[in-house]
This record gives sequence, structure tokens and C-alpha cells, in this order.
Amino acid sequence: MLNPPRRLPPVVLLLLVVAALTGCEPLSALSPGAGSQPPPAGALVVSFIDVGQGDSVLVQSGGKSYLVDAGKPQEGPNVVDFLRSRGVEKLDGIVVSNPDADHIGGFVDVLDAFEVSTVYLSGDPKGTATYNSFLRGVRDEGSTVEESRSGDVYDWGGTEADVISPPPGALFSETNDNSVGILLTFGTARVLLAGDAEKKGEEYMSVGPHTGPLTVLKVTHHGSNTSSTPLFLSRFKPRIAVIQVGEDNSYGHPTPQTLRRLQTVGAKVFRNDEHGDVIVTIKDNKADVAVTEP
Ligand SMILES: [Zn+2]
Repeated sequence: MLNPPRRLPPVVLLLLVVAALTGCEPLSALSPGAGSQPPPAGALVVSFIDVGQGDSVLVQSGGKSYLVDAGKPQEGPNVVDFLRSRGVEKLDGIVVSNPDADHIGGFVDVLDAFEVSTVYLSGDPKGTATYNSFLRGVRDEGSTVEESRSGDVYDWGGTEADVISPPPGALFSETNDNSVGILLTFGTARVLLAGDAEKKGEEYMSVGPHTGPLTVLKVTHHGSNTSSTPLFLSRFKPRIAVIQVGEDNSYGHPTPQTLRRLQTVGAKVFRNDEHGDVIVTIKDNKADVAVTEP
């Protein structure tokens, strides 16, 4: 049985937040349209797909498409539908930020639906059986597998993608801290995706060479209290923070403490459990945020 399509029709009222990157305050307004369509030319579009409790981020730039995580197994069809609604025909790369099921589960359907050129992962050997079978699937598919470590730099369709974690040498003891941290730079905009990094991973990024204010932060580890440390948020001060979290999740994510810390640094917070899909379009040094549940 196919799941009924969850995607909203193209014309839907969207909350549009226009944040001039050089300005002080984001401007909010309601505007129709701009939901289900391929990205505009000359833009970096980062979509935080609503996969409930889990991560999935589509990065589109210069005609290329990259998928960072794919949510739990049951979210696979949802992710595939979303990618199609955004004009994706093939994936130039997928990133496994973390080998847990809430990050890799949906990749089975994604690999079935799309050609995938490159798979980026941390190489943390503590993968589960599910993760190892995912890796076998990737090798059967013939994708190139690249270990991503701090210092690696990729050109993703004109957007610079700097790997800023985990370290190139010995890994941390906790798998979450070995999450692949990718900093996207497009013009003056900076977007940081760092999976489920917790204190040690965040500390490593915070003392590295890529600190500075962010246009968008994917809040680490679904807004848990063991992440979003004051040090990390002070070194990577986000203007927009997106929390990938499921409604009424059993973990209590995001925690009130995390929300307070994000508020303290002045971040405008968007959450998948409240806003549905969160689509950030960066063009001409402006970031527009569209959501499917205003
Ligand atoms: Zn997770």
C-alpha cells in the first residue's frame, strides 16, 4: 500500500520571514506561494523536512542537490515525495550525519528512488546492523563513499561546504559527538548542519577556525539539553535556528533550557513539530523562511 501523499498543494499560505543578512531584525510578513517548486536560480535553498522525531535536510545550490539524513524508515516515502516536489531528479550526494535510525532510516527509499553519486559519512565504526546493511546497499548501488572529516572542503554547486567536525584523527568516544558537521557558505550567508553533536563535538567546532555568526543553525541533537551549549551558541551565534523535532516526542525535545539559550542569543526559532517543513531560501544576501504550517 502506498502512503497517501502528505505534501501540501503548491498554493498554500506561507509564513515568510525576510531576514536581510546585514540588517538587525528579521521582518515578518504573510505571503502566498513559493512552497512546492524547484529552487530559484542563483539561490541556496536549505529545506528542513518535517520527518517527525529525526533529521532530514535538503540542500540545493547551482542545480545540484544534496540530502543530509533521511529520518526514520517510515519517513522514507515522505522524504522522496518532498524531494520530487522540490524538483530533485538525482542526488549529487547524501550525508549520513549520524548512523542512528532517526537519521539513516529513510535512505532505503531514497536510494530506491534516486541515483546517488556520493555518500559522505564520518566513518565512526560503531554503526548498528541497520547502518551496516545501509552501507552494503550503498556499495551495491555503486555510489562513491567518502569519509568526511574536519578540514575537508567540497564545492556543492557553488556553495562551499566545509567539514568542521569530527576531527581528522582519533574520533570521540560518543557517536553523537562524531556527527558530521557541515558549514555551508554562500555569499555572506552561513548555514551549519551538525547532526546530533553534543558537548564534546560542539566544543571541538567552537575552538576551530570556522566560528562566527550564522544565518541558520540546525539545532544540534533535536534541541536536547546536552547540546546547544552556551560556548557553542556564543561562537556560532545563529539568527535563525531550526529544530528538527517530532510532536509529543518521548525525549522531551526541545528542552526549555535549550529554547531559553537560543532566545538569549537572539535566534528566531522554527520547529518541524509546529511549522511543518521549514524552507530557507538564501538569495541576494537575504534569507527567506517559508513554512508549510504557518
Ligand atoms: Zn538524532
